Amino acid sequence: MRIDLHTHSTASDGTDTPEELVAVAVEAGLDAIALTDHDTTAGWAAAQHAVRRSGRAGRIRLVPGAELSCHCPDGRGNSITVHVLAYLFDPLSQALVEEQARLRARRRSRLHAMARRMAEDGFPVDPEALMAQLPADSPGGRPHLARALINGGTVASVDEAFARYLGSDGSYYLPRTDTPVRRAIEMVTEAGGATVLAHPLATTRGPTVTADVIAELAEYGLAGVEVDHPDHDAPARARLRALAGELDLITTGSSDYHGSNKTIRIGQETTDPESLERLAQRCTGSEIIE
Ligand code: AMP
Ligand code: ZN
Ligand code: FE
Ligand code: FE
Repeated sequence: MRIDLHTHSTASDGTDTPEELVAVAVEAGLDAIALTDHDTTAGWAAAQHAVRRSGRAGRIRLVPGAELSCHCPDGRGNSITVHVLAYLFDPLSQALVEEQARLRARRRSRLHAMARRMAEDGFPVDPEALMAQLPADSPGGRPHLARALINGGTVASVDEAFARYLGSDGSYYLPRTDTPVRRAIEMVTEAGGATVLAHPLATTRGPTVTADVIAELAEYGLAGVEVDHPDHDAPARARLRALAGELDLITTGSSDYHGSNKTIRIGQETTDPESLERLAQRCTGSEIIE
C-alpha cells in the first residue's frame, strides 16, 4: 500500500488540475492520496469525480483535505508560520468556510502587493495580468509570482525565485495574515476532521516550533505530525518520530507534491496504512472516496 497524504492542485499552487493529479497518482501506482490545497476545498469535487470515474484499472482512494496557513508561538518567544493539514472535515462547516474565504482574500491582496512592488522596481511582471490569471476566489501564492518571473525571464525556476526574491528573508516577501493555530485545530475538530502538523521541522523554510509547542498542540487536539517530508533530514525525522511516540501522535509521510512548481515526485514519501486508518477513525466530517 502506497499512500501520499499531502498534494496540491491548481485549486491552490500546484500545476496539475485535480483530475490530472488523480491520473498522475494512479500512474505512479499509489493506492491513496489526499488532496490538501492551501486554504481551499475548491478542488474536492473534481478530484472526487475523477476517482469515481477512474474504474477498476485505476483504483485509488481519495482523502479530502486542506493545508491551513496558521501562526503559532514557536516556544522561544516568537510567533511563526506553521501549516496544519486538515483531513476528512465537513467542507460546509460555517466557521471553516468563513475563515478560509478570509485567508484566500488576504492571500490575493498580499500577492498583488508583492507583484506591484516588483513591477515598481522594474521587474517584468504585470500585477493586474497575474491576478486576472488566477481562478476566482483561489488562494494566490508565491509560486504564482515565481511563474510570472520565469515567464518574464528574470529567473529560471521557482526555487531560484524563492532563493533570490520571494523567500521569507527576500526583499519582496510580505507576510500572510493567518489563523491562530489553536483556532484552526478547534475549527477542524468541530467540523469532524483531524489535524496533522505539516513539515514541523522544515528549517529551510524558516523558524520551527519546539517539542514543547508540539506537546501543547497535542493536548489541544492535534492528531498527528508529518514525519517523512522532503524538507526533513534524517535527524529531524528521528526526533519527530520519537516525539510522536511519547505523545501518542499519528505519524504521516507525504511528498507535498506541487506538480512542476517543485522537483518532488508524487509518492516520493508515503504514509503507512495503519496511520491513515487511525486518522480516519477520528473523523466524521466527510468520507474517503473510492
Ligand atoms: P505562500 O503560500 O504564498 O506563502 O508560498 C509558499 C508556498 O510555496 C508553499 O506551499 C511552498 O510549498 C511553495 N514553494 C515552492 N517552492 C518553494 C521554495 N523553493 N521555497 C519555499 N516555498 C516553496
Ligand atoms: Zn504550496
Ligand atoms: Fe506547507
Ligand atoms: Fe503543502
